[in-house]
Amino acid sequence: MSHSPFTKPLVDRFGRVVNYLRVSITDRCDFRCLYCMAEDMEFLPRSQILTLEEIQFICQTFVGLGVSKIRITGGEPLVRNGALGLLQQLGQLQGLDELVMTTNGSQLATMAAAIKAAGVKRINISLDTLDAEKFRILTRTGDLPQVLRGIDAAVAAGFERIKLNAVVLKDRNHLEVADLVGFAVDKGIDISFIEEMPLGVVDSHNRSVAFYPSEQIRQDLQQRFRLSPLNDSTGGPSRYWQVDGSSSRVGFISPHSANFCSSCNRVRLTAEGRLLLCLGNEHSVDLKAVVRQSPGDSQQLQQAIVDAMQIKPEQHHFDIHQQPIIMRHMNKTGG
Ligand code: SAM
Ligand code: SF4
Repeated sequence: MSHSPFTKPLVDRFGRVVNYLRVSITDRCDFRCLYCMAEDMEFLPRSQILTLEEIQFICQTFVGLGVSKIRITGGEPLVRNGALGLLQQLGQLQGLDELVMTTNGSQLATMAAAIKAAGVKRINISLDTLDAEKFRILTRTGDLPQVLRGIDAAVAAGFERIKLNAVVLKDRNHLEVADLVGFAVDKGIDISFIEEMPLGVVDSHNRSVAFYPSEQIRQDLQQRFRLSPLNDSTGGPSRYWQVDGSSSRVGFISPHSANFCSSCNRVRLTAEGRLLLCLGNEHSVDLKAVVRQSPGDSQQLQQAIVDAMQIKPEQHHFDIHQQPIIMRHMNKTGG
């Protein structure tokens, strides 16, 4: 009997079901965070990135193959013209249970309510420091008060669980982890701390020296908060702890100190239209070529996606002490 891509869920060689797609809708950004980009970045020309219609078509096809969660990310997704229209279309896809987004928060003050109305259930907002001067240094261009207004607008818009994301670098912001948790508790939102990943060459710091492990952050936090481990798995790489006496949870994303590959349920679509099977490997398939060769042919696209599952690697091998093996920066990949 012939293999039908229409009826089966996406399963890789290791039996992992892929039901989560992360989509970078642009490699551009209004910030230049030290850990994400070099100061001088060259961005892709418009013709090389997927059009919004192509993104919508690819997302729809993934949903047809059983993907139930899509995260829109970038670059900064909200700096792409038409981002809101895309969210509105994706919000109406039958079979998509969760449309979520990751943003640096710079546009939320004006856009949060419309994003919620479009059907985005949850958002993650990046925030590494509460010190405006340090924020400017870490993001190179960012304005902290603007992002704080964005966070307030997101809270007011009523998203289900807002989560802050903080990348922690030793001697840059590691002394602020408890203040960041205090801020999250005050706002009634969650926060995850992320270990820096060696993606692309950065010129601002030595990643090996700046490495600050999750376990150390947890110990630091316990000086000020009582944290109780939570068993609920969100299907993602975060491990969560409840901040006692509050509604907030603290998560740790530890690509170095805790490997989460065995339960990986996700793939990524880059702004250029490459389907990346693993954040820490180069295995990918050019879906832009497929959709541009046969526009509107969902069967061809489905077959390409089903076939791609065969090259999803078993795990990543990050080594913070080596030169990055992955030369693409996070803004291309979609974090
Ligand atoms: N611009 C949006 C933002 O900053 O939230 C979305 C894209 S950004 C690439 C997604 C997430 O990746 C952010 O939380 C960011 O802090 C994180 N990130 C960027 N570079 C990273 C790196 N080298 N290691 C770990 N996390 C990184
Ligand atoms: Fe932009 Fe997000 Fe990368 Fe910072 S982490 S430079 S906000 S894409």
